[in-house]
Amino acid sequence: MCAATAGYRGRRVEVLDHAPKAAAKIRISGGGKCNFTNLTVRPDHYLCGNPHFVKSALARYQPQDFIDLVDRHGLVYETRELGKLFCQNRAGDLIQILRTECDWAGVEFHLNTRVEQVEALDESHQPLRFRVVTNYEVIECESLVVATGGLSFPKLKASGFGYRLAEQFGLAVIEKRPGLVPLVFDGKLRDFCAAMAGVSLDVTIRNQDDTQSFSEALLFTHQGISGPGVLQISNYWRPGEAIRVNLLPDIDVVEALLKLKQENAGLKKWLNGFWPKKFTQAWLEKYPLSEPLAELPDERLRQYAEQLTAWTLYPSDTAGYDKAEVTLGGIDTNAISSKTLEVKTTPGLYFIGEVLDVTGQLGGYNFQWAWASGFAAGQSA
Ligand SMILES: Cc1cc2nc3c(=O)[nH]c(=O)nc-3n(C[C@H](O)[C@H](O)[C@H](O)COP(=O)(O)OP(=O)(O)OC[C@H]3O[C@@H](n4cnc5c(N)ncnc54)[C@H](O)[C@@H]3O)c2cc1C
Repeated sequence: MCAATAGYRGRRVEVLDHAPKAAAKIRISGGGKCNFTNLTVRPDHYLCGNPHFVKSALARYQPQDFIDLVDRHGLVYETRELGKLFCQNRAGDLIQILRTECDWAGVEFHLNTRVEQVEALDESHQPLRFRVVTNYEVIECESLVVATGGLSFPKLKASGFGYRLAEQFGLAVIEKRPGLVPLVFDGKLRDFCAAMAGVSLDVTIRNQDDTQSFSEALLFTHQGISGPGVLQISNYWRPGEAIRVNLLPDIDVVEALLKLKQENAGLKKWLNGFWPKKFTQAWLEKYPLSEPLAELPDERLRQYAEQLTAWTLYPSDTAGYDKAEVTLGGIDTNAISSKTLEVKTTPGLYFIGEVLDVTGQLGGYNFQWAWASGFAAGQSA
């Protein structure tokens, strides 16, 4: 995005990437269909140490701008729940569009080219400012835009080079950790999850201090829990903290249990109306409630409702960068111009995309940030 934008301005642009193919993450994202943007994108969809930072770039390159771009290329896409836009065929179609834009803008690609070192040139070299040393050539340039992404999915050539470069130029890097990531458990809960692996439930998940809540699916895995709701809350979870799951988010559970008691109806049959039978069976073995309900005090039913609507879980860890969609933290945005993405103290040096301390929620927000920040830098670099 940045390369094409700068190329259209008449800049001579070279893209250096150590991967054998460009845009590997687009290809595998969204289950191979790439959730490339969202119909609604707001600054509060992002985690960033400086919440105002994202506003300028997001306002100047909106979801509709990207939709107009893919429409011009005839991309076939679909809108899914919560405004998420996906390619209908394959994510590779989107890569082709970006490559075509780069071709039209005269951008040159150097793949299998690892950037190993960057030196700032002194004034005598003006207008050249940087010497970039790669595994087989040395390039001197006026502007250097760093889009090295985060640490997630090392098998796709993720690297920490961008962070090291930022430190070399005196920028602070905020603590990094895996984000949009499955959560794992130890002990009995891990066994419970493993036995339920593959079961998906529509839930509401909240973080410990109740500041964030997501109503999306939870999926049991062999090590713990995943699914969109879990990935979302993982961005707000810290080791040692609890998460709370409402397993019956669409009903008043206290009222429903008191009604069951009145009608002397069976709990299992009722729960089976909401959950797969396998989960009901396992749940009732783990959290039994003596029946008939008619013999239980209302207080016991209220407690049980709490068990169902605020199931409190203490993950032992995240599933790590191998499974994380993004990296939380990154280059401190206070050192970066929010308008141009240029480093305030180093003219000509830019950082864009995920390498910055900007992380979107699940739903196409991370790619929208990549497009918007790339566009902003491409207009200036
Ligand atoms: C499995 C998965 C699914 C995802 N699905 C979605 C989704 O559906 N929607 C969404 O919005 N976001 C999704 N994301 C997040 C999204 O892919 C990233 O936020 C986005 O790709 C970040 O773009 P970027 O350009 O900043 O970095 P990246 O796309 O990570 O690109 C960084 C590039 O830098 C190159 N590089 C690194 N170091 C060097 C070096 N030293 N020399 C040369 N090249 C180097 C890498 O090879 C890579 O090509 C997903 C991520 C993953 C891992």
